[in-house]
Amino acid sequence: MTEKINKFMEGVIARNPGEKEFHQAVKEVAEVIIPFIEENPKYEEAKILERLVEPERVVMFRVPWQDDKGEFQINRGYRINFNSAIGPYKGGLRFHPSVNLSILKFLGFEQILKNSLTTLPMGGGKGGSDFNPKGKSDNEIMRFCQSFMSELFRHIGPDTDIPAGDIGVGGREIGYLFGQYKRLRNEFTGVLTGKGREWGGSLMRPQATGFGNVYFSQNMLATKGESFKGKTVAVSGFGNVAWGAVTKATELGAKVVTISGPDGYIYDPNGISGEKIEYMLELRATNNDVVAPYAEEFGVKFFSSKRPWEQKVDIALPCATQNELNGEDAQKLIDNGVICVGEGANMPCTPEAVEIFHKAKILFSPGKASNAGGVAVSGLEMSQNSMRYSWSSEEVDKKLHLIMKDIHDACVKYGTDNDGWVDYVKGANIAGFVKVADAMLAQGLV
Ligand code: GLU
Repeated sequence: MTEKINKFMEGVIARNPGEKEFHQAVKEVAEVIIPFIEENPKYEEAKILERLVEPERVVMFRVPWQDDKGEFQINRGYRINFNSAIGPYKGGLRFHPSVNLSILKFLGFEQILKNSLTTLPMGGGKGGSDFNPKGKSDNEIMRFCQSFMSELFRHIGPDTDIPAGDIGVGGREIGYLFGQYKRLRNEFTGVLTGKGREWGGSLMRPQATGFGNVYFSQNMLATKGESFKGKTVAVSGFGNVAWGAVTKATELGAKVVTISGPDGYIYDPNGISGEKIEYMLELRATNNDVVAPYAEEFGVKFFSSKRPWEQKVDIALPCATQNELNGEDAQKLIDNGVICVGEGANMPCTPEAVEIFHKAKILFSPGKASNAGGVAVSGLEMSQNSMRYSWSSEEVDKKLHLIMKDIHDACVKYGTDNDGWVDYVKGANIAGFVKVADAMLAQGLV
């Protein structure tokens, strides 16, 4: 089996040289899916896995814009139409200087299986730019978004490809992107999700990823008769996902003691709640990408250039970015008695970290399962747009609860080992794969 997986990976690496994040994401899936395919030869004959790792289409384009000083700036824009077997391409846009083809292909590939897990009809896509929002003025952000959409509009549409936010793209950016799309097409449609509530957005979309991650962990904890109540939690990041996770975990009676940024992390022994959560939002809105001011504001400790995983906690929710929790961090968490790790970001744990969690047989959920709440509510936003109707927060939250429970149960169905321990990575990958693979088989050689 290992030989088969290695051979498959050699092919992927040769066809996609240098794309290390993409290789990492594919390998995690291949390790689970190749043995599964072995037992289900119909997928092997149709070369479903080989097809799955090849995007249906990749668009790369120039994004020229002018900064406040009048200087010309050139960035690169991307959109990956990865897989449309079960619905139109769907996935976020990331604006971050690290963005390149490898990162977007890893994200787009993950998105195929994640969207399939949501139970909603959405294919997989991803896009973005190497544009750095840090320190940019509101006008610069608007001009960049307008230029970006002046090319992207040709490749997307409410029945073709529906982008949303990701790192560096929030409500403000979606507004500018939507405005430009509407102007170019002269159409008010649900072409983007994460819109403002007055112009087609869904209630609960901002909270959805972080809340969904906590709901997923709640489901995992319940299998052990545990809950968030009275637990100490480490959260990383301080953006949209972290904000939702901190809010919900606190509401459920946990004490969240950390948030982090590229500058380091803060440790708040009294817990991040109330006005401190509001402050977190303000900090994010400054566009400076630092958490250190929190320490000053509330008189707590700031750990420069460090990651929160060295603290003793019961639950860890990595909500920042890919590969932010490595083997060493994982070992520290285990030594300190962590019982549950729920990925809120996409692929935040390195393969070494995942191996350590698996060896220790703790509760560990991969992002494609536990952060699917965000795209799930995007799917609900699409439904509401199609109906030209909107649901109340309670209705959306109820649906989100159900979806996260369904995803959890699908992972348990496909991921339970002989000794009863649940391998959520295996479960999520197989459950996500089966639906897409069957749709691909039904649609012939496309
Ligand atoms: N960027 C989010 C994700 O990684 C949300 C995508 C969406 O809502 O389309 O799933």
